[in-house]
Order: sequence, then C-alpha cells, then structure tokens
Amino acid sequence: MKALDYPSLIRAFEGVIASVLEQKDHLSRLDSVGGDGDHGTTMARAMGKVADALAAHGEEKIAVLLQEIGWAILGVDGGAIGPLLGMMFLSMAESAEGLEVLEGEQLAAVFEAGLSGLLAQTKARKGDKTLVDALVPAVEALAAAARAEEDLEAIFSAAAEAATAGAEFTKTLQARFGRARHIGEESIGSADPGASSIAFIFNGFKKGISDHA
Ligand SMILES: [Mg+2]
Repeated sequence: MKALDYPSLIRAFEGVIASVLEQKDHLSRLDSVGGDGDHGTTMARAMGKVADALAAHGEEKIAVLLQEIGWAILGVDGGAIGPLLGMMFLSMAESAEGLEVLEGEQLAAVFEAGLSGLLAQTKARKGDKTLVDALVPAVEALAAAARAEEDLEAIFSAAAEAATAGAEFTKTLQARFGRARHIGEESIGSADPGASSIAFIFNGFKKGISDHA
C-alpha cells in the first residue's frame, strides 16, 4: 500500500497509543535521571487524549483527525511535550487540509510541516539532547522514503529506525534543555525521555501500519 488514508491513519495512531503505553514506566524512569520523573505519566495522559479523538470519529477526514489530536495533546500539562507534540500535529493538519489520502510528496510535506511547526516552538536543535534529536532524522527518513515512492510499511520502517537511532544517540549527549540541563555531565549515559517518546511514537506508527498491511 502506498497511500495513507483515513482508516490507515486511525490504525497508525492505535499503534502509537499501544507503543507509548507499553513504555510508560520506562519513560518515567528516564525522566527521573534529570527531571521530575513524570514523563511516562504525561505521555500516558496524552495517549488518553488521542484515544478520545480516535473514538470521536468526527468528519472522517485526515486533516480533521490530526487537528483534533493536536488540540487534545496541546492541553496536556506536564512539561513542554504536550505543547510541542500538539503543535506538530496541528501543523500536519494544516498541511493535510483537503487531502483524502497522503502519498509520496504529500506525505513527505505533511510530516515536514509537522517538524517545522514543532521547531518554531522551541530553541532546541539537534545535539541539545531533546526530542529534536529523534524527530529530525525520523522525518528526514520518512520524507526521503515517501519521495522515493516506497510502500507505507517501508516508509514508516525507515522513520522508526531513524527515530530509534536518534533516541539512542542522545545517550552520548549532555542535556542543554529542560530540567536535565542542571545535572550537566550526569545526563550523559541515559537517553532523553522526549527523544525516546518520539522513537516509541514512530515505532507505533510502523506497527499500526504494518499489522494491517
Ligand atoms: Mg518531567
């Protein structure tokens, strides 16, 4: 399958919910290294909001669903993650406006719009040990595979692999953002919780897409 339609987007987000909830305790443990240990709880709350949006089944349009998910996550308190991911999905919604399916160039452009929307909300860039370190390579890999007109499974596999590698790479970095920056060099050796969440989100997209391919 090459095109992401509304039903496959629903399945992709079902994959995200399962993947993130499975890692809830792991994400909180990562956050307890340099933060307040609530990242898993915050992400679980965000996934509850995503589940509500999926169950609402509004207009059955890609842009409407992304917008509902974006607004829902935007309001989740517990650090910067809610506003950042919320803005990412809202920016994707804007880019997907009016499209019945996403494939090739459109799929690439929608995820790139999401990345730009998120980057506009933070000064964090690659190398700062944040979610940006996983998201940038994930979107680059997704966009390259989508433009090469690969199958959805291959596209989301490439993105998941790049996000996982990006999250893994944050183990080598020293935190320069968020609470974890206060522990300086002690942050080296463990993965950034936000980057790890991005990896679990993209692995969830992949699983949701490939389970039903
Ligand atoms: Mg926290």
